[in-house]
Amino acid sequence: SRTFQSLQFDNRFIQQLPADPEHRNFPRSVEGALWSEVQPRVASRPSLVAYSSDVANDLGFDLTDADKTLFTEVMAGNRLLPGMQPYAMVYGGHQFGNWAGQLGDGRAINLGEAVTPQGDHLTLQLKGAGLTPYSRTADGLAVLRSSVREFLCSEAMHYLGVPTTRALSLVTTGDNVRRDMFYNGRPEWEPGAVVCRVAPSFTRFGHFELPASRGDIALLRQLVDVTLRNDFPQFGEPGKAAYIAFFHDVSRRTAEMVAHWMRVGFVHGVMNTDNMSILGLTIDYGPYGWLEGFDPAWTPNTTDAEGRRYRYGNQPSVALWNLAQLGNALYPLVEEVEPLNAGLDVYRQTLEQARQLDMTAKLGLQQWQPEDDLLIDDLHRVLQLTETDMTIFYRHLADVDLQLNSVAAETIDASLLAEALYRAPPAGYQQQLQNWLQQYRLRVQQEAQQYDDALNRRYRLMQSTNPKYVLRNYLAQQAIDLATDGDYSMVQRLLDVLKRPYDEQPEHQDLFAKRPEWARNKAGCSMLSCSS
Ligand code: AMP
Ligand code: MG
Ligand code: MG
Repeated sequence: SRTFQSLQFDNRFIQQLPADPEHRNFPRSVEGALWSEVQPRVASRPSLVAYSSDVANDLGFDLTDADKTLFTEVMAGNRLLPGMQPYAMVYGGHQFGNWAGQLGDGRAINLGEAVTPQGDHLTLQLKGAGLTPYSRTADGLAVLRSSVREFLCSEAMHYLGVPTTRALSLVTTGDNVRRDMFYNGRPEWEPGAVVCRVAPSFTRFGHFELPASRGDIALLRQLVDVTLRNDFPQFGEPGKAAYIAFFHDVSRRTAEMVAHWMRVGFVHGVMNTDNMSILGLTIDYGPYGWLEGFDPAWTPNTTDAEGRRYRYGNQPSVALWNLAQLGNALYPLVEEVEPLNAGLDVYRQTLEQARQLDMTAKLGLQQWQPEDDLLIDDLHRVLQLTETDMTIFYRHLADVDLQLNSVAAETIDASLLAEALYRAPPAGYQQQLQNWLQQYRLRVQQEAQQYDDALNRRYRLMQSTNPKYVLRNYLAQQAIDLATDGDYSMVQRLLDVLKRPYDEQPEHQDLFAKRPEWARNKAGCSMLSCSS
């Protein structure tokens, strides 16, 4: 395996697309270009908090002790490897449903596109490494709190099987960052940090929207053509057919991503079109959260508290709305509405199929039947009768004794499922749960007659679909509180446990627990804002 030092770079995006002609690093409008040259800010005392050895391996290196100092310096933005060419990208976006104009990498600086041993390109991007022309009114920095959240969650999502950008490293800079905090008991100055994100491409829907909104069709076409050549070579030479195939593929990928979010109980929190990856990767971990009680109306984003645009149950429709904005942006190249509308149908169909597969798998059923819609709706209704922890409920459901061998419907022992409840359930709850379990029992019995080894298959399917360990909001907060005091042990522990989220790992049973009552309305645990 190669060393970190010997990483090779081939920076296609900036080689192939027009640069900002001005070299002034302050917020301004940049037209006719897609990127600006910038230099990362020098951190005063970089220190490595954690790194992902798997991402390093994807890049083709093992981090040796001898390389750790250099690695830390590079990941803090203090040094560059040969071939790195730092730049920030410019894009636009719809934020909370409104066109927001030019945005861009306000605090993200791409170091370059590393070429993996397999010949793939992986872009390294520092988040929190200082000002760029797209920093708008902010400082270009990130605090340890939000960086721990991004680092852990991107890795956790990957191991859950959810398409996502990755995180290579988390370093503290040794510099303090000022935030207007609602953060109980903490000073306004917080430790600064930088995460190195990694993805085949960081191109977002908003990249296409900005030139389209300015009527710069030549630039739009350049970007689409380069994107096709670099990231979607399977669609052949750029042209109308390839543009349509591209849009359909982005639609399909987006549907797959959202279905995964729904399966694991992830709420992105800021599904603005600038936070939508054209590769269908989960990107920009800000005020995201994990469902504790199953509640389609829940959103972790306090900025969104009124509109609730970005609540859990809205994610499928918001992603569709975002795709429609991408479709609008591509319209000048396609000049036909019908094939773009067909892309939205690809999204709807892919999502529906994925949801059916996922829901049946969550219940341990091998094959979806139309009547299952009713079973699933009923379950969702029961889950909302009283605050019910989604992760614990599904995980325990596999272990409930459904008495499959008895002919008459006897009462099913649901005491395991009671562990998922946050408080004593209301009158009538047990009966409704019982009714659902009986319905479910019949369905499982019916399948047991159709398949060999059905019960083992059901169990394995449920265990591999319903995670045991997710990055619960309060666990992330505990890791952050310790890390703020210089203790990175919980960051490391969560990173390790979340690598195997479907495994039992009995030694980590304490992480498979309901949110404690103290965390219910605590800032950071269930309330988050965009500014971090
Ligand atoms: P987000 O809400 O993270 O998607 O960011 C929206 C826009 O604000 C993007 O252009 C970001 O790059 C920019 N931005 C967010 N936070 C900061 C920050 N701390 N410093 C500079 N720019 C930022
Ligand atoms: Mg963003
Ligand atoms: Mg952000």
